[in-house]
Order: sequence, then structure tokens, then C-alpha cells
Amino acid sequence: MSERTAYRVCPLCEAGCGLEIAVSENGVEKIRGNRQHPMSKGFCCPKGIALKQLHEDPDRLRPPMIRENGQFRAASWDEALSLVERKLADIRQTHGNDAVAVYLGNPNTHTMAGGLFIRPLIKALRTKNFYTASTVDQMPKMAACGLLYGSPMRIPIPDIDHTDLFVVFGANPFVSNGSLMTAPDMPGRIRALQERGGKMIVIDPLRTRTAQAADRHLFIRPGTDVYMLLAMVNRLFAEGLVNTGHLETFIDDVQALRETVAPFTPEAAARMCGIEADAIVQLTREIAAAKKCAVYGRMGTSTVRYGTVSSWLVEVINILTGNLDRQGGTGFCRPAHVPDGSIPKGYSVGRWRSRVSQAAEVSGELPVAVLSEEMETPGKGQIRALLTVAGNPVLAIPESDRLDAALAGLDFMISVDYYINETTRQADVILPPASILCHGHYDFFFHALAVRNFACYSPPVFEKGADEKDKWEIMANLALIAAGKGSDASPERLEEKMLDDLAAGVIKAMGGEEKSGVKKEMLIAPLSGNKGPERLLDFLLRIGPYGDGFGMKPDGINFKTLTKNPHGIDFGPLKPMIKHALANPDGKIHLFPEDMTPDLEELRQAIEGTGGEPGRYLLIGRRHLRTNNSWMHNIEALSANNPCTLLMHPDDAGRLELENGDSAQITSDVATIAAPVEITDAIMPGVVSLPHGWGHDKDGIQLSVAGKNSGVNTNRLTPAVTERIAGTAVLNGIPVTVASAAE
Ligand code: SF4
Repeated sequence: MSERTAYRVCPLCEAGCGLEIAVSENGVEKIRGNRQHPMSKGFCCPKGIALKQLHEDPDRLRPPMIRENGQFRAASWDEALSLVERKLADIRQTHGNDAVAVYLGNPNTHTMAGGLFIRPLIKALRTKNFYTASTVDQMPKMAACGLLYGSPMRIPIPDIDHTDLFVVFGANPFVSNGSLMTAPDMPGRIRALQERGGKMIVIDPLRTRTAQAADRHLFIRPGTDVYMLLAMVNRLFAEGLVNTGHLETFIDDVQALRETVAPFTPEAAARMCGIEADAIVQLTREIAAAKKCAVYGRMGTSTVRYGTVSSWLVEVINILTGNLDRQGGTGFCRPAHVPDGSIPKGYSVGRWRSRVSQAAEVSGELPVAVLSEEMETPGKGQIRALLTVAGNPVLAIPESDRLDAALAGLDFMISVDYYINETTRQADVILPPASILCHGHYDFFFHALAVRNFACYSPPVFEKGADEKDKWEIMANLALIAAGKGSDASPERLEEKMLDDLAAGVIKAMGGEEKSGVKKEMLIAPLSGNKGPERLLDFLLRIGPYGDGFGMKPDGINFKTLTKNPHGIDFGPLKPMIKHALANPDGKIHLFPEDMTPDLEELRQAIEGTGGEPGRYLLIGRRHLRTNNSWMHNIEALSANNPCTLLMHPDDAGRLELENGDSAQITSDVATIAAPVEITDAIMPGVVSLPHGWGHDKDGIQLSVAGKNSGVNTNRLTPAVTERIAGTAVLNGIPVTVASAAE
């Protein structure tokens, strides 16, 4: 019998669905979608419901762990943090700041700690060896938007609720519920689009759930979207279909672009993509003719050899057809916690380079594909210690066997994580945060990527135990250790310093204390919420676009307003705001950034080819509804009926005499693995697919459920090849051979 209902935004994926959690004295009784949540309206997926199992998982670590003689033992926080302090000081003193590297997994972006406390930690560590999962999947889109609009956080979002035509390249939003597009209940949103007479067209090598729901699906050879997109831009110019409308005064370089795309004809693209030239022309005309159209690309256009160019071209088509910053096209968010004008202006790639292979910095980090070589290669700046936060790079990044070996050679490793997984099993210290349901929640990242302007705060469902730490406290402890304040410094010290800096910034913008008559205490004293992320959020909300301006705008919001609205506050659909959104110092859209030129020249030279390699298949990944990150494989309800199989077309399987369930041997340039075959005509001939995040068969992991259904790690096959501009791993379109494992 439940005693209370808690409202909580699901922190497991970008969609941020509202959940209704029935709680009794025994804990969580039941979880279902919150019908009063304005964004998700009752929708939720099996992962959200499984938060109960995640919360109760006996494998989830409670106390900190220290590894001694190859075995983990429980430790106190004092002991674990003192060890971290001692070892980090030694390593930094002996080898320099760059000897300590940080890797952040994608769950960081789903926490308030990740939204607020990563920056001070990296600043305090003063290392250039900063890596995140962004260079595994999304950096090309961020870099393309940075180069076009002046900031990697200025990512236009498809206005799915008002568009007439939704064109999807290499994405499966029906299952992901949006990626770099927060849109809970995509199935419902797609249905609504079709019911109002709109259409969805999907271009993908796999007939995904999204493709099944589409009005048209075109199979495309993996990695060749770039040719199709170039041919579409070519046609827009050649057929006089360019109509930039309200964007005209913000655009330059149109003529240079027209000349560059001239060789990329639909016929040339057809040879590369496996899509007929007529179909490319027809789609281009439909986009140009649509009153409101949103073209959207994700994994299939990002994690490929020309990921940034492809992501740029998606934007170019939206711009040239006047669909950027238009209702029903694509638009920019105006999140409640981001004060107008506060996004830094100007963007470039390569402000510094990695030590070994000179890979370019991108959006303040180095590509994760060079992490192993930075650990392996001796010399000044070699990585000797690693901090991983909510990440499992041994399963997530290319050449995972190599990374696994490199981790074993580190002097020290710290992991902030819930589990002893394939990566953290090599840590010397594991610092586990309290359960997800014991943290407050606000989506700092995804409120900036949503299909509507929206804000929601969820208080913790349960109080954490006296001997547990919230994730923000752990991150603050680590930042204070890195800043030399000691392992016993209170996390609140960092929070107070951050508030102090925020207040100083506001007073400076008002002309200084004397002129404004405003003192820091006057801004900090009225803040509500617990010390920690909540007070910082309150400050940001008050100076944000809908904020109360510390009493100057009585109708504005603050943290208390959010707590009084447990289902969130809807500020309405995305509104045109191009002038305000552009973050290039000249206030323009840089339509044709020069960073694209070398890749375009390479593409021009390649266009006479055929796009294939005889005898080899192209390996792609795929997204399953019941999994997002590898840790979800430890939840029985999610991992059952979620097989890690190699999808293969019946013609290909027949040629290789493979049948359903047979074990296939898959060989890339760097490794060979085996996986059971699943034959389906949902995949394009010549293409095979394995899901990611599997391979729970390493000694020493403590994932009792995942270990029973381990699957294979597809990233063992992925070479450390990156796309040139954003340094992102090429995960899709890897050439492999396939044979029967029995042979
Ligand atoms: S779609 Fe994402 S946010 Fe929504 S319930 Fe599922 S995992 Fe949670």
C-alpha cells in the first residue's frame, strides 16, 4: 500500500519523461508515467519503470571501495578520499598536471552534479587530458553547430510538434525518444504529425522502429549520407530552390558553397549511397516545397568518417530552405537557467593538440580515441592516473582491448560509479554516489535541447543514508582535493565559492557594487533550496530569461516556483530568436566554415568510386528500447529478451550458409569476435549490425545479471579511426568480413 506519490523526472535518457512513483515504507511500490507532466503526458518506457530495480540492485555499491592485492574491500569516505588526495598529489608533483586524465560517461549529463561541478573539477585539475563520451557519438553535431552558429551548445532542435515534413537521417527517435532533441513520447509525436497530414521520411541502412513508422524509408549504404546530402544541396542550387527567407541577412558564403557542391550530382551520390538519383531529387524537391520541414541527423551522420561535414550539411539544408529558426522547422531553445547573452561567443577547433598523434582539441576536450595512446606512450605528459565518472570506456570506445590493457598500466585510477564493471574493476578507489532516487534532479543539458522551452525540478524521492554522499558532494570533494584544499574540506565550501563568483559576475555586469548598490550577500541570502546544486540552480533561474531578477520581476520564477510546480513549467514552443541565438562575434551564420574544405576535397576525389569494398560487409550499431548504457544490462527486466545478435540480410546469410542462431565470426582490421546471427530483411544487403555496450565477460566484474547474458563487445572491432574535424570515433560503416564460426 503506497503512502505517498513522488514525482520525478527520469534521469536515464535525454527524453526526461515525468514519472509518478508510489512509495511505501518498504520503498518503491510502483512506477508509471506522470500524466500531468506537460512534456511526456504519461508516456514512459520500460527503462523508466526499471528505476525501482536500479535503486534496489544488490550489485550497486554502497560504501567506497579500495582495491588491494587485486581485491576490493569496503572503506570509509575519509580513508578513500585521503588515499585519492595522497596519490593525486604525488603523481601531479612528479609528472605534472597533464599526468591526470578525466573521462566522463554520458550519465553525467543526467545529473545536477554533472551540470554544475564538472567545470570546477577540470579547472582545479589543470589537465588538458579531458575526455568524454561526446567524442564517441555526438561531437560532430556540436562542432558543426559551433562552426556555423558560434557555440557548440547552439544546436537547433526539430520542431516535431508543428512540422509538416520530418526527414530523419541515421536516427531512431521512435526508440531513443530523441537524441540531441529532448522529445518524450516520440511515437505519439510522430503519430500526431501523420494525423495532421504531415509526413516522416527516414534514410537508414536498417528498417528501425522509426523507419517502420515512416511514410517512406530509403535504405542507404552506411557512411555515405554525406554524398546524398551534398547532392541535395547541389539540387537546391541547380533547381533554384534556395529560399533562405528571414535568414538572408545573416548568411554569407552562399556563392562559394554553390560552386563547391557543383560536382556532387545526384547520379554521383547514387553510386555511393545505393539510393537512386531520382529519389534524391524527389526528396530535395519535397523539402523545398514543404511549408514547414525539419531535417534531422544523428548517429548515422555523426559517427562516420565525414561526421562533421554530414552534420553541417543537415543544417545547411535547413538554412537554405529557410527552415532554421522557424516554427515547424528547427529552432533554438531558451532554457530557464541560461541567462540571455551568457553563452561565450566564438568557436574554433584545435586550440590545443594531443601529445602523441596531435589530435585537435574540440569543445574543450580531446578525442577519446587517443586516450589509450596517451596512457601507453612514455614521455612528459604521459597519463599516469585516470578519473572516470559514470563511464565504462572499456565497452564504449574504439579498440577496447587496447584501452583495457592500458588501464592496467596506470599508477592510479579513481572511479565515481555505482558498479564494479569492465572499466572500474581496474580502479584503485571507487566512490559510489547515493542512489539516483536520493538526488534532486534538474536537466541542465536537456532543457537546452528540448522541443519546447520547459523547466522541471524533482526533489529526492528518498533521503540518502548518513554514510552516503550525493554525487555533487563527491565531485566537490574531488575538485577541492585537486585545488589543494584537502580531502576533509566541506563540499559546501566549493558551492559557496561558486555562488560568490556568480554574484560577483552579476554585480560587475551592473556596473560594480558602488554604482549598483548591490552587495553579494543581497543576492545570496534570499536563495532557497539545500546547500549544493539547488541553491546554484536558484541563482541561475533568477537571472535567467524567465527569472524574477532577485525581485525586480515579480512575475518571474525562482527555485521555489519550480518546487511549487512538481510537474514542471512549460514556457511554450520554440520561438524564432535567430538574432539572439547566434554566438558568432559578427552576429552571422558562418554558412561555409573553412574547416570543411579538406574533407570536401577528399570527397570530391572519392566521388568517382562505388562506395563499397568487395567481399566486406559494413558494420553498424543499433539502439534498443530496453538499453541505453551498459549498466542497464544488470537489470533483469531490461536485459531479458534483449539479445546481442548480428543482424544480417537473408541473401547474405544464404550466401554464407548461416542460419538463425548460428555463430558468426566477424573480423575487422583490429579484432575478431563471434556473435549469434539473426536473419532479417530489415537490414540492407551488405550491411550487418551489432548493438553496443555488451561484452560483460571480463574477470572481476560484479554485475551478476549482466554476466549471465554477456553478449559481445562490438567496440573490440572498432579501429581507433576518427573523423577529421571533431575527432569522433568512426563507429558506423566499419568494414568487416563475416564467416561461420564453425568453420
Ligand atoms: S524514454 Fe528515457 S526518460 Fe523516458 S522513461 Fe524511458 S529512459 Fe526514462
